[in-house]
Amino acid sequence: MSSAVVTLKSGRDRSVRQRHPRLFAGAIKEISGRPKDGDVVDVTDNRSEWLARGVINQQAQIAVRLLTWARDEVIDEAFWRRRVHAAIARRKRDPALAHTNAIRWVFGESDGLPGLIVDGYADVLVVEISALVAWRALPVLTDALNETLSPRQIRWRADEERLSREFGGTLPRAVRAALSEAAPAEPVEIGERGLRFWVNPAGGQKTGFYLDQRDNRARVAAYCQGATVLNAFAYTGAFGLHALVGGATRVVNVDSSGEALALAERNLALNGGLGAGRRYECVEADVFDYLRGLRDCGERFDVVILDPPKFAHHPGQVERAARAYKDLNRVGMSIVEPGGILATFSCSGVVDAALFQKIVFSAALEAGRDARVIERLTQASDHPVLLTFPESEYLKGLICRIE
Ligand code: SAH
Repeated sequence: MSSAVVTLKSGRDRSVRQRHPRLFAGAIKEISGRPKDGDVVDVTDNRSEWLARGVINQQAQIAVRLLTWARDEVIDEAFWRRRVHAAIARRKRDPALAHTNAIRWVFGESDGLPGLIVDGYADVLVVEISALVAWRALPVLTDALNETLSPRQIRWRADEERLSREFGGTLPRAVRAALSEAAPAEPVEIGERGLRFWVNPAGGQKTGFYLDQRDNRARVAAYCQGATVLNAFAYTGAFGLHALVGGATRVVNVDSSGEALALAERNLALNGGLGAGRRYECVEADVFDYLRGLRDCGERFDVVILDPPKFAHHPGQVERAARAYKDLNRVGMSIVEPGGILATFSCSGVVDAALFQKIVFSAALEAGRDARVIERLTQASDHPVLLTFPESEYLKGLICRIE
């Protein structure tokens, strides 16, 4: 049992009782027992009723990362091992993951492991740390990952922005050194529904491959028989290759990153004859400019995929992001052949599904097109939404028939 106690202000215990895993500094009345950042603390309401246990960080806005609501559960090495083992067992039982060896094994709070993301690419793990609590537990977390997944290699990285906030603004040099890459990364080959992809675990964006879109790539491919496909924000071409499998006659991948597109080219080559007799192009350009160019010269596609990066990182950015999504979708829609498909996504958690639908509605009005939602899409099952932590839901997509 820990000795330090965090007492909540009167009326501020609701989210803890509802098992929300983040306790913000503003809800705290007092802290007794002089805990150091990274220590385990008990949390009680203002009448000293025990509520939960977690790890404190007084430099962070999220003052306590809550870990358990069971009074007799001790936060020790065995605790961390249990959590990692459980997260991995969940994925191993998941039939939706049987066709791939690229899996998000740990998805932060959704797996009861705040600040920890673990992506597996074949036998390489990429571990991303975004909170002090995970940084402190890193040795035992690493042991647990080694025991369960026996990786050939583990690559660590820091979510610089979020982790430095946990250290009062700057990442200590020792942390930075421990979480930076020593050896140059070699691309790793992974498989997804029978397709093969090169993933660059260190140089890549995010942790290397957009695992959250795995099922959506197959959903969109189902509309690509005989179709011309514009894959905007293509990254390494994953939607594009699936579109070829779905029978697309032409795929244009557009991205601003030449490095990502180079892998998109290599990924086509990796899949043997997949491109035979079809057109597969990679265009390095700003999507907004490129789409306007197509619209202005009247070129159209049967299927248009829009999978932009996160436009809003916090609630204050929602309005600006909404405008950007609307502009993008308006131009995107204007280049869809009548009767064709728009597959449009947002990975901004603060733009919820209802708002996203309104944005696409406004875009359709402005574009003067009829749009019908025929499928609603979300993040893959290895990015589960913990119901006590609704913020874990972030990816939404609409497949629309555009007339
Ligand atoms: N659809 C991809 C993931 C897309 S991630 C997949 O399934 O793998 C977002 C991509 O958008 C990144 O590759 C990034 O390089 C690219 N990007 C961001 N802003 C852009 C812009 N304005 N124009 C073109 N590409 C952009």
